[in-house]
Amino acid sequence: MNLKKIMADLEAKHPGESEYLQAVQEVLESIEDVYNKHPEFEKAKIVERLVEPDRIFTFRVTWVNDKGEVCTNLGYRVQFNAALGAYKGGLRFHKAVNVSMLKFLGFEQIFKNSLTNLPLGGGKGGSDFDPVGKSDEEIMRFCQAFMYELWRNIGPDQDSPAGDVGVGGREIGYLYGAYKKLAREHSTGALTGKSYGWGGSLIRPEATGFGAIYYVERMVKEQKDTMKGKKIALSGFGNVAWGAAIKATELGAKVVAISGPDGVCEIKNGITKDMIDYMLEMRASNRNKVEDMATKFPKLAKFTAGKKAWSVKCDIACPCAFQNEMDEKDAKELIKNGVKYVAEVSNMGCQPKAIAAIQKAKIPFAPGKAVNAGGVATSGLEICQNAGHINWTAEEVDVKLHKIMNDIYDMCVEYGKQKDGSINYVKGANIAGFMRVAKAMLAQGII
Ligand code: GLU
Repeated sequence: MNLKKIMADLEAKHPGESEYLQAVQEVLESIEDVYNKHPEFEKAKIVERLVEPDRIFTFRVTWVNDKGEVCTNLGYRVQFNAALGAYKGGLRFHKAVNVSMLKFLGFEQIFKNSLTNLPLGGGKGGSDFDPVGKSDEEIMRFCQAFMYELWRNIGPDQDSPAGDVGVGGREIGYLYGAYKKLAREHSTGALTGKSYGWGGSLIRPEATGFGAIYYVERMVKEQKDTMKGKKIALSGFGNVAWGAAIKATELGAKVVAISGPDGVCEIKNGITKDMIDYMLEMRASNRNKVEDMATKFPKLAKFTAGKKAWSVKCDIACPCAFQNEMDEKDAKELIKNGVKYVAEVSNMGCQPKAIAAIQKAKIPFAPGKAVNAGGVATSGLEICQNAGHINWTAEEVDVKLHKIMNDIYDMCVEYGKQKDGSINYVKGANIAGFMRVAKAMLAQGII
């Protein structure tokens, strides 16, 4: 593989798609050595094919707001790669959504889904619709308008979207209602993250956060260390941070920070059950303000405007919000404050220079595509239940999720073990995820 040439060609073809190019660069750098040992990959031009999505749908979404005004947004679905199964990946509703963001997320999703060892291809979608400040009715009307366009291109054996930033159980409900009416069939596997009782899986809401902490627990054990008493800083306060806070607390760690676009809440004595429950209300309010936690619990949480979670002293740092949310300066501040582990839970949550600084300081660092794979894995388990018309108990789902995370961790170690005995989790995740996809593409011919 000629990495420089591939990147130069991609930059010329897709100028300005910075997140997408960043994600491709990171993966190709990690797999280069292994790839070059497989001339059959080069012959079939696996990398050149893998970096371009199979197709991208772009569509207009027009809806009416509460004032009766007509609003238009853009909707997208990137169907990236289906070597391992039907396209699978979330929908993101955020004002900054564009093709570059969804291509980066779709590209990452290919390898993440591969790591789960389930039959899931990679896709992603969303809209530049901004849910902040929108009423429940506006959210519903937007979701319905979005589905008018998308419904023909999804289905359990074609493409199965789920939630992501700005899309949770409520949005999936409205999206599924519209899908069912348009498609005139109850194909529950066409969307995952549904509520329990009409096709949803128990533990799916918690899964990304639970899975992440299962992975972190293994990283900690690897160093002959324990989760007990560890201080954890989480960024964000959405679904992912919520699940991580529950599991971390259950394992005896202390969540000492959560954050939002407005600043950080420091929680000296560790987050409590009431505070964790309140995170759900904060998300449902669509205010997007972490300060609300300190207003509700003034004795337990201290809000500082404009600061990130990484300003709080911690042992474990877990970005749970958005891509590139940790920069080099943040990483250096964490290192100075004695951080012992960094695990991305958001997709590409750390900038390349932040990762380099953490790795240089010999602090174990794990990438989002491995750490957060529990979410999509449990979506895969939801599809299994839908196909079999059955519901598993919470315990049954959790046991399967835990096993999948343990297997992902083991694969990352297998492929990421370095000569000096340290583990490069980034390399491990990328190589392990890539190999499965590449072998499937090879077997399925030049298509
Ligand atoms: N959006 C989540 C992710 O980044 C979940 C996707 C899914 O469940 O399909 O993996």
